[in-house]
Amino acid sequence: MDLLRIWQEIDIKDVQEHILMADDLFGFCPGCKTPGLKLQDLHTCPTCKREFKYVTSKDARGGKSAEVVMRLKKKLPHLTFVDYDDYERLSSKNKAADLFKNM
Ligand SMILES: [Zn+2]
Repeated sequence: MDLLRIWQEIDIKDVQEHILMADDLFGFCPGCKTPGLKLQDLHTCPTCKREFKYVTSKDARGGKSAEVVMRLKKKLPHLTFVDYDDYERLSSKNKAADLFKNM
């Protein structure tokens, strides 16, 4: 399997509402903060029923990123892999924008 990173216009809110955080073994649902989710073919959060469409991983930064993404893609082929730094940057940018809106 070859992997190619593609830049795509996205709705950050949609990503925030449907993202799964994962490490090599387990997933974490940011919606209800449930840790330890089994990754294999995980489609929805068993606790809050969040539908997962995207996955990201802190481990996929730096030199080992392709290996980590490849392993996660095998367990979660239905999810779109989101770059962790991109996601964090956009999320915090959005948080700042929300802050100003309420001032
Ligand atoms: Zn959940």
